[in-house]
Order: sequence, then structure tokens, then C-alpha cells
Amino acid sequence: MTAPLITLNDGHFLPAVGLGTYQIRGGQGVDQVLTAIQDGYRLLDTSTNYDSEGIVGEAIRRSGLPRSEFFVTTKLPGKYHHYADALMMIQESLFRMGLTYFDLYLIHWPLPKRGLYTEAWQALVDAQKLGLIRSIGVSNFEPEHLDKIIEATGVTPAVNQIEIHPYWVQERMVAENKKRGILTEAWSPLGRGNDALTESVIQELAEKYHKTPAQIVLRWHHQRGIVPIPKSRNLQHQRENLTIFDFELSQTELERINLLEKADGRIDDQDPNEYEE
Ligand code: NAD
Repeated sequence: MTAPLITLNDGHFLPAVGLGTYQIRGGQGVDQVLTAIQDGYRLLDTSTNYDSEGIVGEAIRRSGLPRSEFFVTTKLPGKYHHYADALMMIQESLFRMGLTYFDLYLIHWPLPKRGLYTEAWQALVDAQKLGLIRSIGVSNFEPEHLDKIIEATGVTPAVNQIEIHPYWVQERMVAENKKRGILTEAWSPLGRGNDALTESVIQELAEKYHKTPAQIVLRWHHQRGIVPIPKSRNLQHQRENLTIFDFELSQTELERINLLEKADGRIDDQDPNEYEE
């Protein structure tokens, strides 16, 4: 099973579900990413901060599949927001992964108190021109951060990867991205082990559609036009998370899931305006 493709604002295609790799590490990690690839995952999400770039690169090589089959994403850490540092870091990540280009490269966090994200964005724009990156995007950006980089460079991000799960629905931010033609990706789409999957509405819908709670939540993302990147080390869960394209939730059911939102639903209280890497 492979995920259908979605067109980005720059004309490139992105698989509708990806594999997160936060805390997937070491030799076992390579095997875990490899099983996901063999099962059909093509969008692989890593980050310099996760220490998983090397294992993702190794799993790609071991798969024996052509590079062109993959959609590889990684992210710029905050301490490399200066223009020259960012350009160096992109190349360093490519060397670490054994790749010659990234499909998508994101600024991991805006870190507005440091005030360098526009400089970092200019580096991504230039790295794209140099052919090091196909699509460029951001993560955890709020509307004012988006407007600032678009105004400074004339280039709109293809993707904004933000925290979304049933306890943190982000209706406003998803609409803000859409208004600018930016695709929303969801990090921690399953709530990273919070109680969302055991909520009665999720359980009820799982029973109704003969699906698992995780599949209901991932389908909710998909029908909202969001690309989720669930992390799983185990084949059964990986397979489940990719098998969400054969059923449809009703509008009322989507809205019932939205109602699970909590005022303090964020994982680890990570506010993009306050977060410090
Ligand atoms: P997640 O929501 O993907 O949840 C992962 C947890 O859910 C794991 O404990 C896993 O065992 C469990 N799980 C996975 N599939 C399941 C299934 N089918 N049934 C039951 N349980 C299941 O959380 P995450 O790893 O934090 O987020 C996903 C990815 O998002 C990360 O791995 C990373 O790549 C990315 N991420 C990005 C940022 C950012 O700032 N851009 C921040 C955090 C994570």
C-alpha cells in the first residue's frame, strides 16, 4: 500500500501520509524505518535534532529502491538560523544522509525571540535555487512569521508542519495556511500517546468503520486536507497508519472529533512564540 499524492504550491508531489522518526535511532532504528519503506512509506520525516538523519539515509540505501521514489524531509535546528550556517547545515545533513538533495527542508521552529528566521528562510530559498532542496517549508510558524518571510523574499513556503491531534485541533492555523496556499502537515498526529485514542467518540467510530482508533484519527487529518506523519516502530502499527484510504468519515463525525479539543491540549506546552531549542 502506498499513499496517494498531493500537489504542493510549487508543483511537487507529496505522499498523503508519512513516517515520523522522532526517537527512532541506532541499528534497530534502521530496521524499523526499512520495514516501513518495504510496507509502502515514501515520505520520511526526520530532523537534525532527532539524531535520525543517518539511519533514515541508511534505510533508504538498504531498501534498494531508487532515490526518486522517496520524499525525504529534514529540518534546520535553531542554532543554525544565520544565513551562512543554514547553508552549511543543509549540506551537512545531505552528507550525513548520503543524499544529493532533499525533497522538503523545513525551518524547525521560528524562535522569534532570536529574530533570525527570515535570514534562515533566505538561505532555504537560495539552497533551492542551487538544487539542494526541491521544496522549502517551515514548521511551527504562526501567521505573523509566515507573512514576514513571504514579504521579505516573495517566496511562500510549500508546507507548514505544526502540532495537530484531537486535543489540539488548530482550526485557525490550518485555515491561515490554506489561505496562503500552504499545505499543513501534522506533527504528533496521534497525540504522542496522550489519551485521544481512548476517547469514546474515537472508539465508537473505530467500531462503526471496522478500523482502529489510530486509523480514525489519521483519516480525520486526511479529510481536513492535512498530511499526518505518525511515528511507529512496529510493522503492524506502521501498516495500519497507511491504510486509511478505503473509508470516509461524515462531516458530523469530523466535527465530533473536533470537539475533543482542550484549551491546554498542546503536548509539553510548546508555544511557537515561546519555544527555545
Ligand atoms: P505520534 O502522534 O506520531 O505518536 C507516536 C506514538 O503513537 C508512539 O508511541 C507510537 O508507538 C504510537 N502509535 C503509532 N501508531 C499507532 C497505532 N496505529 N496505534 C496505536 N499507537 C500508535 O507522535 P510523534 O512521534 O511526536 O510525532 C510524529 C512525528 O512528527 C515525529 O516522529 C517527528 O517526525 C515529527 N515531529 C515534528 C515536530 C516539529 O516540531 N516539527 C515535533 C514533534 C514531532
